[in-house]
Amino acid sequence: MKSYLTHLECTKCGEIFSCDDVHQTCPACGKVLYAKYDLKGAKQDLNKAILKNRTPNMWRYFEVMPIKKEANIISLGEGFTPLLKATNLGKHIGCSDLFIKDEGANPTGSFKDRGISAAISKAKELGKEKFSIPSAGNAGSSMAAYCAKGGLLAKVFMPKDAPEPNKNECILYGANLNVVDGFINDAGKLSKEVSSREGLFDVSTLKEPYRAEGKKTMGYELAEQFNWELPDSIVYPTGGGTGIVGMWKAFDEMEKMGWIGSSRPKMICVQSEGCAPIVRAFVNGDEHASPWENPETIAAGIRVPVAIGDYLILQALRESLGTAVTVSDKEIQDSLKQITSFEGIFACPEGAATLAGLKKVVADGIVSPDEKIVLMNTGTGLKYLDAIQINNS
Ligand SMILES: *Cc1c(COP(=O)(O)O)cnc(C)c1O
Repeated sequence: MKSYLTHLECTKCGEIFSCDDVHQTCPACGKVLYAKYDLKGAKQDLNKAILKNRTPNMWRYFEVMPIKKEANIISLGEGFTPLLKATNLGKHIGCSDLFIKDEGANPTGSFKDRGISAAISKAKELGKEKFSIPSAGNAGSSMAAYCAKGGLLAKVFMPKDAPEPNKNECILYGANLNVVDGFINDAGKLSKEVSSREGLFDVSTLKEPYRAEGKKTMGYELAEQFNWELPDSIVYPTGGGTGIVGMWKAFDEMEKMGWIGSSRPKMICVQSEGCAPIVRAFVNGDEHASPWENPETIAAGIRVPVAIGDYLILQALRESLGTAVTVSDKEIQDSLKQITSFEGIFACPEGAATLAGLKKVVADGIVSPDEKIVLMNTGTGLKYLDAIQINNS
């Protein structure tokens, strides 16, 4: 198979860079770089029929993935997760065409594996062997696992309120774990400092171009699993926003290859009341989100006060005619119990937040109850057993 990756392009200033060199953010303006492909070429080699015979993981879209040599892929079988029809839950909340994309089925139990597999594989292809990452939880455990698989060095920086299971996973996978007295952005600063001092490659969210390439495969999969008809609405628990911008990018690529038309799902961003920088900026009509002070929520994956890709997230929400809503931790807990007991899916709090958010946008009339709706359950709840309240009543 051949990758049709051609270059990197800045999403803000449009500067172009070589994809044969290691890049993080745009050297000209500091914003997010995107991987670009020769999509005319890619569609000669890759089409809907060929996909039927490909292995069921995210590398099935190899032509539009950034790795040049297949042998350089570091994989644990990430992606092609179940898209489950949530009939019982749908009945209960009055939505007749409700689905859950269950990212808890990924190798380390969250969709972080998609981004990390792509980023680590590409960096290794370009000669990197030592990695660092700041993480609220799942990205750290994921990177630790992929570095173990690839025989690479991993340093993980987690705020002290990160879930204990994530910390323990890092240690078991053989990573060097640093617990930081502060928030995720403090962990980010330290990760950056240590990386430049020790020559590590920092794979922070959207601060290198390829995690988004892994996460975009969720967009390809939704199209493929729905037989090339995108749903009407996608509800996404937004932290750094890689998934939302990744899927948005995937839809654009698929349209350019003639696989889908120009209609798009409404992209619906859900954040926690205790940490909602994107919702605030969306409501205010701002292009960028100002940092959230004292972020607090049980949903660690969306406890993200600053997102470098804020303008890309906000753009996707607006272009898609979507919206952004907040939910409380209590609503997350109640929704978690509903997803779990109605569907047999042990959702993570972030995934549960999408159900809580859906109830609000349906009540507000932004999403109609007969639409085809996808809730993104971004990870397994099994890692949060110490954080969620369980009442045996
Ligand atoms: C990281 C994470 C998120 C947020 O993902 P982004 O793509 O960075 O917005 C949501 N849920 C879980 C479980 C996560 O680990």
